[in-house]
Amino acid sequence: MSRNLELFERGKQVIPGGVNSPVRAFGQVGGTPRFVKRAEGAYFWDADDKQYLDYVGSWGPAILGHAHPEVVKAVQDAAVGGLSFGAPTEGEIEIAEEICKLLPSVEQLRLVSSGTEATMSAIRLARGFTGRDLIVKFEGCYHGHSDSLLVKAGSGLLTFGNPSSGGVPADCTKHTLVLQYNDVQQLADTFKEVGDQIACVILEPIAGNMNLIKPSAEFVQALRALTEQHGALLIYDEVMTGFRVALNCAQGLHGITPDLTTLGKVVGGGMPLAAFGGRADVMAKIAPLGNVYQAGTLSGNPLAVAAGLTTLKLIQQPGFHDTLGARSAKLAAGLADAARDAGVAMSTDSVGGMFGFYFSDTVPTSYAEATRCDIARFKAFFHAMLDEGIYLAPSAYEAGFVSIAHSDALIDDTIAAARRALARL
Ligand code: PMP
Repeated sequence: MSRNLELFERGKQVIPGGVNSPVRAFGQVGGTPRFVKRAEGAYFWDADDKQYLDYVGSWGPAILGHAHPEVVKAVQDAAVGGLSFGAPTEGEIEIAEEICKLLPSVEQLRLVSSGTEATMSAIRLARGFTGRDLIVKFEGCYHGHSDSLLVKAGSGLLTFGNPSSGGVPADCTKHTLVLQYNDVQQLADTFKEVGDQIACVILEPIAGNMNLIKPSAEFVQALRALTEQHGALLIYDEVMTGFRVALNCAQGLHGITPDLTTLGKVVGGGMPLAAFGGRADVMAKIAPLGNVYQAGTLSGNPLAVAAGLTTLKLIQQPGFHDTLGARSAKLAAGLADAARDAGVAMSTDSVGGMFGFYFSDTVPTSYAEATRCDIARFKAFFHAMLDEGIYLAPSAYEAGFVSIAHSDALIDDTIAAARRALARL
């Protein structure tokens, strides 16, 4: 028996599904999850000592590649000084200053330990600030697993969302409106009808949780204009896109100033760190200054701050995001060429260090379109690539991640592997 399988069976005895986050269980693609023994640069090694070129990168954080020596050193140095204090440190101010410098929309921020906490807290803050209850989200966008955000679309315009998870009372989601990504008309109609009750609109400004889906320029403009007109806050959930699609994030690419921004993944450099921040007048509503409660025993953890700060410094090296973006674009173009030559319907896209490939003729623009791609083909391709030693996201609805350790030569190797894999489909 493979050691991966042995661990999977053993894990299932004590951990539901053998994993601590569902997508790791290979539910959509089937087969045995790879248990990671160690990782370095663009690679990880599984429990059977097989090497994989990793395009998941911990679902986004590993923008410098795994175990970057300077990040590891910063964490080691921090650890010697104590693991957690529950009292403020200078490092927390430093990383906050660094983020505020890189993101002009963020005048103040608070550190938390996961993206879920960041979005949940930002929503509470938006409601507290506006005194309104309704929130708007878009189908296919994931914002973590807090109750009011675990919502699937109702049917038709202005139907309130239904819980998409057991254990979430319908009462918790009755204030959540679920609209279609990139549907400007529906957004405008919604604001016309209930705009004065909407506390905030939250979105993935470039979606990475329904494969990679970009917003249209009109959609982006409409979001900012309508929220402003109606006194609702615009929340850019940049947990995935933050510092990955560009140094000034998706909001920089869009030329948009959101009211609040949530960050995670890259900002913690692989350690549990996330943040939410934005307008100072809004942030002033948070306890201890205001009446919106938010707290955390491990918030601003010194090891996480050290990893995050070092990562943020390293990604500011000149040309970092240009190189990263060129590598992703090369991969996307190479995959599309390989599919065309193999006679397989596949389209691809990329932005900064994110890429998407879709087993359909065109790049999707909404959740409905994303779910229309050929899942059977995706599964077969995923496993063929796994055999080639290439680890892609084990789900057709997740974006892929390129790190700076994915050299041009490794991208070429990946495209060559994809040619072989596609030929076998
Ligand atoms: N928002 C977005 C856009 C995300 O991609 C994720 C995680 N994939 C989250 C929020 C939740 O972050 P976490 O898993 O750290 O709770």
